[in-house]
Amino acid sequence: MKGHSVETVKLLPGREHATLRHHPWLFSGAIGSVSGEPAPGALVKVVSAKGEPVGIGCWSPTSQIRVRLVAFGEDDRFSCSARVMSAIEARPRLVPDGYTNAVRLVNAEADGLPGVVVDRYGDFVVCQFNTAGAERMKNEVVATLADALSPRGIYERSDADGRRYEGLAESNRRLVGEEPPDRIEIFEGDARFLVDVRHGHKTGFYLDQRDNRRLVAACAAGLDVLNVFSYTGGFGIAALKAGAKSAVHVDLSAPALALARENAALNGFEPADADFVEGNAFEVLRTFRDSRRSFDLVVLDPPKFADAKGHLHGAARGYKDVNLLAMKLLRPGGFLATFSCSGLMTPDLFAKVVAEAAVDAKRDFRLCRRLWQAPDHPEGLAFPEGLYLKGLLLQDMD
Ligand code: SAH
Repeated sequence: MKGHSVETVKLLPGREHATLRHHPWLFSGAIGSVSGEPAPGALVKVVSAKGEPVGIGCWSPTSQIRVRLVAFGEDDRFSCSARVMSAIEARPRLVPDGYTNAVRLVNAEADGLPGVVVDRYGDFVVCQFNTAGAERMKNEVVATLADALSPRGIYERSDADGRRYEGLAESNRRLVGEEPPDRIEIFEGDARFLVDVRHGHKTGFYLDQRDNRRLVAACAAGLDVLNVFSYTGGFGIAALKAGAKSAVHVDLSAPALALARENAALNGFEPADADFVEGNAFEVLRTFRDSRRSFDLVVLDPPKFADAKGHLHGAARGYKDVNLLAMKLLRPGGFLATFSCSGLMTPDLFAKVVAEAAVDAKRDFRLCRRLWQAPDHPEGLAFPEGLYLKGLLLQDMD
């Protein structure tokens, strides 16, 4: 980004504290005064109340997160294209090309590019620009991606909720090259998936669950699998490919299930109506319980139940209920892979809630493995908010 803004943001006394550990966010309550009127997304210089340098960051005038720092202390170097290149060049060691052709290339704060998300699906690249700063970096990010990757096309999927708080309108459109097809085919191991980058969730696929799909599938040979909150079939199809006897998918979204059916067929499995259940998971699991259905492996990958601190209590209740219901459907010796993607739900709290569900279900489990987001979704060492996906692979102890 050229032409660093000269506007200066001065913090209130003591409010530089977290930035000394290189935490990138400064909330509106930390701001003392601002010189001039920085444009939305412009780079500003940040100083402490005593005038000591805190860093440089992107100005978000309408967001509670008023500045997102991109360099700390006296360091005032920031090259958007250099950060994009560094992020791209890191990926092949994190996600071997031979295993998949769908990778998160840029993961926002953790890659030093707040608000910028870039996913690659085969020959196409899909971007999200979620903040005022990201919006301002768009041209340089896109030019760097086009130059470095020569993709068939680059598509923008900027429709995440966060843009509203930043005063930005939705923007879904082709930026470079060809329009992406209605479905892009990707592979993960020997499973293949169709991705709808225009209408699918996030940029189209839950790339963050890649390693967990592999780990869970490794337990699945010969088992009857229940894939709850299935989206387009990810865990279930990976399990079938690994030799599962059957897989039932449950989701609220009809389009997601329709794509799950297509994905099953694409992988050589005859999709049967009974294997795709459209409905509220809480109700579907109760119906299964009442009709005494049971499974050897249940996957629970619900959407975010908490996105504000005030929702945490209700979210914990939701996680406990759904885990309790799932445990009641598990055959003796069965596996439960259970996840939370709410950043506010810490790994400890999540494990505690699941343990409470186990007590209520009168079941004992061994915790075989803790599960996390895949390494192409890094966290940022000083940015705990970057860890959002956590899970537990449990086995009933009979
Ligand atoms: N495991 C999936 C991703 C799951 S995302 C994968 O690997 O690709 C969460 C899914 O939960 C979404 O598809 C959403 O449609 C679905 N969902 C949200 N609320 C639900 C509810 N109450 N009952 C069933 N499905 C729900």
